[in-house]
Amino acid sequence: MSFRVEILDLGSAAPPRMHPDFGRRIPIHAFAIESPTGIVLVDTGLGEPEPALDRMYQPERRSLATALSENRLALERVKTILLSHMHFDHVGGITQSGGIPIHVQRSELEAARREPRYTLLSRFSDPALQYVQHDGDAQFLEGIRVITTPGHTPGHQSVAIDTPAGLILLACQAAYVLEEWADPSFEHPAGAASAWNHERYRESLNKLRALNPIEVRFSHDRRIWRTGS
Ligand SMILES: [Zn+2]
Repeated sequence: MSFRVEILDLGSAAPPRMHPDFGRRIPIHAFAIESPTGIVLVDTGLGEPEPALDRMYQPERRSLATALSENRLALERVKTILLSHMHFDHVGGITQSGGIPIHVQRSELEAARREPRYTLLSRFSDPALQYVQHDGDAQFLEGIRVITTPGHTPGHQSVAIDTPAGLILLACQAAYVLEEWADPSFEHPAGAASAWNHERYRESLNKLRALNPIEVRFSHDRRIWRTGS
């Protein structure tokens, strides 16, 4: 199966003073995997405004439709959504899913419903949303696997895409910046150092490294890591 994998620029946010990455505007990405049978959308960005969060994070929003169209992709071609995790900057656009299946780890959905550090509860609890819950790694479609990478959150997952050239990995937020991927001794204050579970964060990164990807992309770093770089 041939895939085209694109980063979708869904805007940015400026974290508040108590955030470990205060002082920088953080890019917010989703990803589109285009296959002959439609687009798999990985994460959904911020979605509609949310006054309390917007006061804290001063977001600049870009719509999914815009980000897709600048990659010559149409929103109507999205057939599946896959959520890396359920923080607001990944799950906020979920209301545009229009009844298509949303794949998530069961442990992540449970954590998001239970733990106060998740927000947008009413948005992602809409009974119209069609969740497909996974318990661990799963062959998602031919050539596309979800890989559980807990650490940033309890049920974080990354995405591995088989291409003729080798494996493309959407680490999502299993690594916060490229250096956390490339240098096992590096810990970003907003990555490993402030993870939900530090030990599991590091284990998950090692699990991903063992897949030997040729290319790795991230939710909050515009740079792409490639073999030999
Ligand atoms: Zn997050």
